[in-house]
Amino acid sequence: MADPAAGEAKDAWDAVLERLDDAAKLTGIDPDIHRKLRIPKRVLEVAVPVRMDDGHLEVFTGWRVHHDTTRGPGKGGIRFHPGVNAREVSALAAGMTLKTAVAGLPFGGAKGGVRCDPRALSLGELERLTRRYTVEIAPLLGPDLDIPAPDVNTDGRVMAWLLDTLSMLKGTDVATSVTGKPLSVGGTKGHSGATSTGVLVCARAAFKELGLDLVGGRAVVQGFGKVGGPLAFLLASAGMRVVAISDVDGATYNQGGLDPAALADHVAAAGTVAGFDGGDVIKPDEIWEVPAELCVPAALAGALDVGVAGRLAARVVVEAANGPTTPDADHVLEDRGIHVVPDILANAGGVTASYFEWAQSRQGMQWEEDVLAARLRRSMEVASVDVWARAAQLEVSLRRAAFAVAVERVAAAIAARGIFP
Ligand code: GLU
Repeated sequence: MADPAAGEAKDAWDAVLERLDDAAKLTGIDPDIHRKLRIPKRVLEVAVPVRMDDGHLEVFTGWRVHHDTTRGPGKGGIRFHPGVNAREVSALAAGMTLKTAVAGLPFGGAKGGVRCDPRALSLGELERLTRRYTVEIAPLLGPDLDIPAPDVNTDGRVMAWLLDTLSMLKGTDVATSVTGKPLSVGGTKGHSGATSTGVLVCARAAFKELGLDLVGGRAVVQGFGKVGGPLAFLLASAGMRVVAISDVDGATYNQGGLDPAALADHVAAAGTVAGFDGGDVIKPDEIWEVPAELCVPAALAGALDVGVAGRLAARVVVEAANGPTTPDADHVLEDRGIHVVPDILANAGGVTASYFEWAQSRQGMQWEEDVLAARLRRSMEVASVDVWARAAQLEVSLRRAAFAVAVERVAAAIAARGIFP
């Protein structure tokens, strides 16, 4: 656990508490409710034993956390990553409580993760790990209890294994217990690009508010995965020049605008943006200094730290990742007049599509893709207007305003329901 007093870096949970405390002060919510939100409702830690291909047994550690379920069942993804720990999963769960509140979805906040390096696992090992983890956290799951979804290093295939395992355990159909499913087992059209679509809606709103032109504007995207990949296409088709894109292994720069389709072909073949011949080679850490109107961190938490904040050359940051900006970096960006559309608003498109998928599964209906797309856009626009309006009224940053909106909505629900018994 990080000890800020000893000069150690704050971790993700420290960041949540700092921002939550600020929002509580800003909104004047009941101190009892504030205290309640500072502790996750339940944290389950599980051992995940997996028979590896070479015959030996590896025992991984996993978690599923419910932060708050006052506004509805827990909702949130599952990540497989070597850096996962209880405090990070708790922070991400709290982020989901706030994100679903900002987006106006009838859910609480949950998150799960297994500490592992999925790149070092065979497909069989990954499946056994997913299935055993699912069994271990199954007591917490259910359509009215907690509905998982994909997150870092998990996808529709992992969700299908989770669904199958849960269904074997319960002996019933469990399509309503998980979202981000493949279409073949009850997923929804339009889920995969939903986070990126929401990011674009937020970028559009920010540019409009700030009197910037999206068409012809320059964008820098950190990450070319599930969110950064589709986003590069969306930004280019909206008329922006995507001038720099990075991933863990490299980065590419083209002042005239990168061709996302050619880059996607390159990544499909090479596994990384490094070596792309449609742009110049730059170091991944150099993308922050590329002059641009828009910067989208779409990779892991903590990327935009104080050092990066001091040299960032973009006017607007839209956080596609969860927790990319550290609280200390927030202050630097604010001082420098750089606007940050925070994760709990900016990347809410994914969980909004998850809500639509859950609703369809409950109804036993399939919406056409245009229905989902229109409702997604509308929902993100409404959330964006709410946050910009609150920021103007309180005269604070968008992050502080988004936290204020979220905390007030959660606090109102807790106050209405009261504390049991
Ligand atoms: N993992 C995504 C997020 O962090 C989506 C969660 C969900 O759909 O439940 O928002």
